[in-house]
Parts: sequence; structure tokens; C-alpha cells
Amino acid sequence: MGMQYHSTRGDGPGIGFDACILQGLAGDGGLYLPQSWPQLPAVDAGAHYSERLIEVLHRFGAGSRGSLSPLVGRALAGFRHPDIAPLRQVADNLYLLELFHGPTAAFKDFAMQVLAQLLEAALARLGQRLLLLTATSGDTGAAAVRAFAGSAQICLITLHPKGKVSPVQRRQMTTCPAPNILNLAVDGDFDACQRMVKTALAQARAQEGWGISSVNSINWGRLAGQIPYFLQAAARLDGPAARFVVPTGNFGDAFSGWAARTCGARTGPIVAAVNRNDSLARTWADGRLQRLPTISTASVSMDVQAPSNLERLVFEAAGRDSAPVRAVFEEFARAGSAQLPPAILANLREAVEVMAVDDAQAAQAMRLAHQRYGEIVCPHTAVGLAAAGARQHDGPTIVLATAHPAKFPEAVAQNLGLAPALPPALEGLAGLPERVQDCRAEVGDVLLTMRQMMAAA
Ligand SMILES: *Cc1c(COP(=O)(O)O)cnc(C)c1O
Repeated sequence: MGMQYHSTRGDGPGIGFDACILQGLAGDGGLYLPQSWPQLPAVDAGAHYSERLIEVLHRFGAGSRGSLSPLVGRALAGFRHPDIAPLRQVADNLYLLELFHGPTAAFKDFAMQVLAQLLEAALARLGQRLLLLTATSGDTGAAAVRAFAGSAQICLITLHPKGKVSPVQRRQMTTCPAPNILNLAVDGDFDACQRMVKTALAQARAQEGWGISSVNSINWGRLAGQIPYFLQAAARLDGPAARFVVPTGNFGDAFSGWAARTCGARTGPIVAAVNRNDSLARTWADGRLQRLPTISTASVSMDVQAPSNLERLVFEAAGRDSAPVRAVFEEFARAGSAQLPPAILANLREAVEVMAVDDAQAAQAMRLAHQRYGEIVCPHTAVGLAAAGARQHDGPTIVLATAHPAKFPEAVAQNLGLAPALPPALEGLAGLPERVQDCRAEVGDVLLTMRQMMAAA
């Protein structure tokens, strides 16, 4: 039997990898995690990214290396850099891990391209169709639209907070002409979109021959697809282990970093860098989870106050005991706040460091990166650089460069007074017609849209 997956909230029987990615969220409201963390063999430092990706997927139960190889080839075909995730030194002990060479110029492409291939293959085996629902603060929706456009077996509905994603991010979603894609502009913030997706998934009734799921980072397939670049970057440096600074919103990418280390990647601390939506930093300070209104910042894709993947790390910090996880997150959902037991909090602090950065610090980091290193970075990467600069570290630091700066020309122009050159992925979007539907922050409206989409497909 391959790797089994269990919910963070239940002690029920495990399910396999395919069922786990097809389901997304567990039936009890929890998130799936593998039954154990495989120790990944050291691949030599020069190994190609695709080899690492195949090995990771294989060890997590996605299939044989032979069956995964063509699928990984298709998933990586749209990347425009031979290293896929190049590691660039910009100063003594400072590196940028460039994760924006994929088809939509943000790191979300890494997992989304792979997940699309894995889902298509699983659906073909089952003879099923799938309706995907995805909340997005901008980049997830763009990556998903690109990965699933034109699929014969999959329909995709994206929910973005109206007026709160960058114009480039919006156009990447809304200019796609494929009939299996529907974009909703929700009258609310990202956390409202995320809650609607979770509630709709729990309440929706699948129709004949349809599964219903999400490709938000609640889906384990997303996190698995992000582990290889941590392994790759860690293997590229010899000498002292590198600290990784991860610009964080929903805590998915940071959790992938923690998972890579747990699977044997040689890393120093994993640092989650957040913007003024600093609920993680506050939780790390006093152990309280609290739902606060989302604040709009320049790093829009990190404007998240209720990071859903925190539940996964809490489960690990609780010694993989689902009882306290259930208690804390059911209380949080009901009351909007909850308190973590001290022992769990201590383990969380051990596992990952958290640093909050305000807008002025991030803007300053963007300007310094340009003056000192000649680098133009996106506002999310700037949050990571500011966090790296604010806390000293002996040895190398790798900051994840999560998006191409040209996705956020307004913020770059404001701080640097220049327009970043458009990468090929972003050319030609401006003149195209847009397709988008307004939507109230009411789960009933989403359920209705889902039914209509299944009936029409
Ligand atoms: C999504 C996103 C993040 C945050 O990643 P999480 O996995 O949600 O923590 C950071 N930067 C960019 C550019 C993103 O699109």
C-alpha cells in the first residue's frame, strides 16, 4: 500500500494520494497530511529539477517514477528557465530563489501545473469529472486558470476579492476565453472568499459523475509540489545550512519549507515573513488565534488574516494528536478566536520563525535591493528581504522571490520610479476582453453557480 493520508481533525482510516488530491478538504473540515514524512535520499547537487520533483511525488505516493516522468515533463514545459527555480547570489550570504519563471510568473505555477497533470490522470482512471472551486488573492487564480483552461474533465470557478487584486493578476484570470473557466469578483476580502470556498465544499451536493474539490493550498497536492525547490536550493549550497525566508500569506509555501526540512533537506531556520496582516506573528507571541479584518497592502497576495495551513503545523506541534487541533480550530471557526495550549505554542516556535514587516519597511527593502544589488523585486519578495535584513543570521540566507515584479507595476513604479520589463508570460494581456461575474459574499450564490456550471458542462 502506498502513502496514506489522514485528516488533521480525525482518526478515521487513511486514503491514498489520488483520493487526497481529488477531495482537497477532508470531510471533517480538517486538512490532509501524509501518515509519515519520508526521508528523501540525497540527490546530487547538480540533479535537474524534474528528477527531484519525480522523487518527491513518488515518495508521497503519487505513482511510480516511470508513470510520473511524462506527466512532470508536461508540467514543466511552460517554464522559461533551464534551472526551473534558479538560485541567484545577490550579495555575500544573500540569495534569491527565483520562482517566477513559470507560465503566470509567480511561484503558484510550480504546484498548480503539476496538480493539473495529476488530477487529469486520476480522473481519466476513474472516468469522472471534477468541479474546482478556488479562492484567490490573485496569483493562485491566475495559475489555476492557466493550468486548467480547456480541460475536458475539469471545470474551474475562481473567487477573488473585487478590486483587491492587481490589474495584471485580474487580467490573467479574466482574459482566458476557455468555457470551462468562470471568474467571480466577490464583494468581500480574501478571507471571505476562502470561507465561502470551505463552506461551499462542505455543503455542495455533487451531481452524477462529478467530484467537487479545491486547488487552494488546503489541497495537499499544492504543498507537495512546492517541496522540491527547497530541496534543490538547499543542495546547491555547501558550507553552513541556509536560512530560508518565505513571504507568507496562507502559510502554504512556508509549510512546504518545513516539510522539506523534515524530509531531510539541509536547511537552517525557516522564517515566515508576513506583512501588516500579522495574525501569525501575534499567534507566535501570545498563542492566540484571532480573526481580524484584512488590511490592504502592496503585497496583495499575502493579505490573509486566517492562514489555513497553520492547522497543519499545529497538528505536527501537537505531536500529531487530532483532539487539540479539533478543539482549537472548531472554536476559532465558531468564535473567531481561540487559545493554543502552551506546549503546542512552544513547538510551533521551534518549528518556524515568524516576522512581520510593515509597508514602509517593505518599500525600503525594495529600494535597497535596487540600489545595492541592481535587483527589481516584487512587493512580496520585498517583505522577505525586509524580514531577512531585520534579523541577523550567521551564514547564508535564501529569500524566496515569489513573483515577477512586472505583475505589480504600480508598486514598483511608486518605489523605484521605473517600469519593470514585461516577461513573455505577461505580454499582450492589456488589450484582451475580460470575462468576470460579480458575486455577493453569500455562499448560496456560489452553490447556485456551481450547480449551473455542472448542468451546462
Ligand atoms: C501566494 C503568494 C504568497 C504567499 O504564499 P502562501 O503559500 O499563501 O503563504 C507570496 N507571494 C506571492 C507572490 C504569492 O502569490
